[in-house]
Amino acid sequence: MPMFVPGPVDVAAEVAAAQTQPMLPHRSKEFEAIFHRAEGKLRQVFMTQSRVLITASSGTGLHEAAVRNFVPDDGRALFCTNGAFANRWYEVGVANGKPSDKLETEWSHPITAELVADALKKQHYDMVAVVHNETSTGLQNPVKEIAAVVHELSPDTLVCVDAVSSLSGARIEMDAWGIDFLLTSSQKAFALPPGLGFAGTNDRALEKAKTVKNRGWYFDLVLLEKHRAKDSTPATPANSLIYALDVQLDRILAEGLENRYARHSAMAARTQQWAEDHDFELFPIEGYRSQTVSTIKKAESFDISALNKFLLQRGMRIASGYGPFKPTTFRIAHMGELTMADMEALFAAMEEYLKG
Ligand SMILES: *Cc1c(COP(=O)(O)O)cnc(C)c1O
Repeated sequence: MPMFVPGPVDVAAEVAAAQTQPMLPHRSKEFEAIFHRAEGKLRQVFMTQSRVLITASSGTGLHEAAVRNFVPDDGRALFCTNGAFANRWYEVGVANGKPSDKLETEWSHPITAELVADALKKQHYDMVAVVHNETSTGLQNPVKEIAAVVHELSPDTLVCVDAVSSLSGARIEMDAWGIDFLLTSSQKAFALPPGLGFAGTNDRALEKAKTVKNRGWYFDLVLLEKHRAKDSTPATPANSLIYALDVQLDRILAEGLENRYARHSAMAARTQQWAEDHDFELFPIEGYRSQTVSTIKKAESFDISALNKFLLQRGMRIASGYGPFKPTTFRIAHMGELTMADMEALFAAMEEYLKG
């Protein structure tokens, strides 16, 4: 039953089944071996030589980790906010008492490197937070260019990127692009069950964290790294999900990252074409459209719950718009395990509905 929703997405049977392996004590050689090889494979997906910390949390936990570890109480963070998840990250900053600024644009437009440059000329920031793939709007921000301008204008500022709905489905090169902290969670582009967070964390980020007081405990990156170095975690990990992660990373690397990116961008192009062929407009401006989820404008009278009722009879489901754009947009996800054949089946059913 393919779900065209941006998370939690369908999980391959083999991956779901991996969770049923017998429990191992997490401080055993057997479990440490699984943890070690999973972390090594994550580095390949993150395209980093540093490390990927694994948390028993969803992605939002790592939003909290970033602000707690990188922003001193008398420091300041800049949140590039052109969507709902970026706004949430800003709210996490405020809720943790960290001086937080928003850099806003219209939600259909990207945060550009020029906008970030202007902000950095006015104020010093400990971290700049940007969402690579805004799942609420189907917009992809130019992270590579943003990271470059931050390093050029403010070399001690950390570049923190949320790639929750894109990493492994769209190209993000942590080391080559100069991303200091790259976070994602398990239930979107990785096509795992919900419950794991992954944070690519470089040495610069760890050194900065060591200077920041009151990092808390559960998401203290310095403590997480101390245990990761021994192939473990400070508290009990989500063992069953780690088993599933190990298997899913084998599948991802067997497909090959380049092939995986190509599969997603082909599905994105097909979805955009389908929308245009049916006189729908895409929400984000051209050049900044997501590879993993398409947000399409609609008339308020076009009822997505009625459409979904029809689709559910055929075992399929799409997503409504998000937040303020719920009445005027809908979303078709094309991430995780989905293939072009799944997309064609969806479009055939939607065509039937539109004719009906
Ligand atoms: C879903 C999502 C989040 C929140 O992640 P959780 O794993 O649900 O906590 C954050 N950012 C983006 C871009 C998302 O799509």
